[in-house]
Amino acid sequence: MRATRFFISTLKEAPADAEIVSHKLMMRAGMIKRLGSGIYNYMPMGLRVIRKVENIVREEMNRAGAIEMLMPIVQPAELWQETGRWDKMGPELMRVKDRHGRDYIIQPTSEEAITDIVRADIKSYRQLPINFYHIQTKFRDERRPRFGLMRGREFTMKDAYSFDRDLAGMQQSYQVMYDAYVRIFNRFGLQFRAVAADNGAIGGSGSHEFHVIAETGEDALVYCPSSDYAANMEAAEALPLADERAPAQAALQKTATPGKAKCEDVAEFLGLPLQQTVKSLVLAVETEEKEKVSKQIWLLLLRGDHELNEVKAAKVPGLANYRFATEAEIIETFGTPPGYLGPINTKLPVKIVADRTVALMSDFVCGANEADFHFTGANWGRDIPEPLVADLRNVVAGDPSPDGKGVLAIQRGIEVGHVFQLGTRYSQDMKATFLDENGKPQLMQMGCYGIGVTRILGAAIEQNFDDKGIIWPTAIAPFEVVICPMGMDRSEAVKAETEKLYESLLAAGVDVILDDRGERPGAMFADWELIGVPHRIVIGDRGLKEGNLEYLGRRDAAASNIPVQEMQAFIL
Ligand code: ATP
Ligand code: MG
Ligand code: MG
Ligand code: MG
Repeated sequence: MRATRFFISTLKEAPADAEIVSHKLMMRAGMIKRLGSGIYNYMPMGLRVIRKVENIVREEMNRAGAIEMLMPIVQPAELWQETGRWDKMGPELMRVKDRHGRDYIIQPTSEEAITDIVRADIKSYRQLPINFYHIQTKFRDERRPRFGLMRGREFTMKDAYSFDRDLAGMQQSYQVMYDAYVRIFNRFGLQFRAVAADNGAIGGSGSHEFHVIAETGEDALVYCPSSDYAANMEAAEALPLADERAPAQAALQKTATPGKAKCEDVAEFLGLPLQQTVKSLVLAVETEEKEKVSKQIWLLLLRGDHELNEVKAAKVPGLANYRFATEAEIIETFGTPPGYLGPINTKLPVKIVADRTVALMSDFVCGANEADFHFTGANWGRDIPEPLVADLRNVVAGDPSPDGKGVLAIQRGIEVGHVFQLGTRYSQDMKATFLDENGKPQLMQMGCYGIGVTRILGAAIEQNFDDKGIIWPTAIAPFEVVICPMGMDRSEAVKAETEKLYESLLAAGVDVILDDRGERPGAMFADWELIGVPHRIVIGDRGLKEGNLEYLGRRDAAASNIPVQEMQAFIL
């Protein structure tokens, strides 16, 4: 590729709505452009990365015996009514009507569509097992789209669906996918961890998430450094825990993120020990409804990144006194309107979720949806029913590992893949059966397997960047090598050597871009460092006189001279 035939559009500054490094850098590097909330154009530079991610995923899925197909983005509501997800999924499911007033959804995943195919076409045990996948656009009307491609509303996912005759078969299919995922994430060149996970809304039994390790990750991962034990916080939470939390709380302080509001700060702010009871409380925080808690109860997450100290100083002068915040203040402070807060009718235990979050529940019957009526004073005591507290307990660093092989550590991760054993969750509702050896109809055993293709870009950057820009792992870099000629228009020697090297790298199958834009060296180098191309070759008269070209790896502190005739071998 020649830069003059490509589209390069870098920015000095990231737009104001870009909060995290990957979002900022992708915007600055011209990889994506925002079209609407959670909706992005994939620009040519970004699309190259997406295609490389897809190709690795595709190769490994094919290798693992999955069969590629493509299911529609817009799907009839009837299928989703059959499984009950039409009602269950709530506002995250994007619903549209056609001109006849018929209901459709924009697919967030495709369990229904694939099961509909399989129930029609798979009749006999001889046709099983089978695994179909597609790489397709998804839409989820996320409550809070943010962080660029990390939590978009429209995004690309690879989703695969396996069908088996029995439980043992399903578990085997699951293991094949699990192993394929390990190969995929290794090939990306990313540091990752697979953790046991809850099945959540999708249903079924048994699941693992694959996380790219990054401090900015939204999820807390619990693992034991001296064994294989690894789970996400929700799955780890379900473990029976020791009654004594004191040592665990001490360990917690070590894992708090410096520079952000820590749990201790929050506890101090609330005037509480870390684990205690509140009967009513400061509201207007980001909330999330937890499946396991009854509908009436809200779990409120005071997240560490909301700079609670500021809130404390500015907006809540002494929690013992009433203080009401305006709607505008709430939006300004939390970036979210207060509409999430509903009536709250239960007790309010304070608990610590991982290293950055305090969760609170309330008996507060609040006027949360009324303007100017959101913050209130807290009265707290110790009368929380013990079972409720136990229910909500979280694992913290230093807790014993459930396998008895050491103590637990906590690390942050970005969920990039998720594999589920679904069992008959969908085949039952949709009557997807096959005839077994005895000619008897049996329900198919299903598994499903997702990879967030576009999220991988964000996750890779969160793990690999410096103050100059992105550092792509070679396998998914938009280009592997950039050739930067110095004064190509002035020097015949430079021009000749540049063209020669460019052609021979291309011929050797290297994904190389030649920067023939005629930019000044400083601007040219800054662009490629920002874009994150892993290998840079500079060709200039001075080096050529000594028979050298200059090489700089994206992580290298200084460039090195490589003899002209050795450069190709060096790069390969
Ligand atoms: P999250 O917990 O981040 O909301 P999820 O558990 O809802 O993700 P799954 O239903 O497991 O997501 O979907 C499979 C994969 O799709 C996820 O592991 C993730 O990599 C990706 N994904 C999910 N939601 C989004 C999104 N809004 N934007 C980009 N990728 C996403
Ligand atoms: Mg989700
Ligand atoms: Mg998840
Ligand atoms: Mg998931």
